[in-house]
Amino acid sequence: MAEITQFTILLGYRCNFSCGHCIVESHPSNSMELTPEETNECISFANKQRPQWLSFTGGEPLACYSDKIRYILDRLEYKPRLKVVTNGSVASRKNFESLLNCFGFDEVQVSIDKFHSKFCRIEDLIAFVQYWKKRNTLVSIAVSLTSPRDVEAIKFLPEELRALCKFNKVVRMGRARKTQTYYEPALFSKADLKGKCLMIEESTIVYVPAKGFSACCGNLIFGNSVMAENVAFSSIGLLVQSDFYKTIQATSFLEMLVDKKFENDPSNSISCNLCEAFFCRRYQLDQN
Ligand code: SF4
Ligand code: SF4
Repeated sequence: MAEITQFTILLGYRCNFSCGHCIVESHPSNSMELTPEETNECISFANKQRPQWLSFTGGEPLACYSDKIRYILDRLEYKPRLKVVTNGSVASRKNFESLLNCFGFDEVQVSIDKFHSKFCRIEDLIAFVQYWKKRNTLVSIAVSLTSPRDVEAIKFLPEELRALCKFNKVVRMGRARKTQTYYEPALFSKADLKGKCLMIEESTIVYVPAKGFSACCGNLIFGNSVMAENVAFSSIGLLVQSDFYKTIQATSFLEMLVDKKFENDPSNSISCNLCEAFFCRRYQLDQN
């Protein structure tokens, strides 16, 4: 396989928030997380493959899994660039700077939108972003959209922070599917289906607790458990030999429109939704 540029570790599903659109269905009492064996497996993988980027996600990495991040970093035999995807809520703690000082993140992605602002003060999130900006860390603000109007949810941010925003359409997965809190386009748009899965384009591998190594960080791995068996594996060798990996490498989103009936559902013009429909058809699974 091509050199792995980024290895993403999903530390666990615990989160101090419980957002209505959360694709991994995180909440404060969700105890599913990497086991000690899985944690060591991830460390061995990183030391062997030496991906340029090591990324931590969850659940909420900083508020719930800072000890696990420290454990992993202390055992690395090389110095990757470090990234974290966070809700930024640690900024509400009095000593948040001393917690963050332990980690030299090169890139931080913080979620600020109508979902996350229900759970924490905007002043704290602004302080969190400013903290990283002062250190010349690359910061982006992820804004989840369920409609074009949601862009307005960031209008209270200072202009310099608005420039850091990246907009994501909420996919039809996890709690978003259960609460019907996802982006629903009115018309099918082929223009939204450019290229292949970003995980493949950016040579990213993810490790997901109790599931394994995958090249999917979206609908396939967190949905139907039978589907997860087809897309996540106990070793990287099994992943790269799999039908799923070979297919996702070879197939663009527009090529996934093999079945014209997919075009009857405008939601399928969102790439992960289409991908799920394509693989459900391929593996003869119900789309739930
Ligand atoms: S902050 Fe992120 S991980 Fe936590 S519940 Fe919200 S969407 Fe899920
Ligand atoms: S659902 Fe498909 S497009 Fe989305 S991350 Fe997974 S493999 Fe990639």
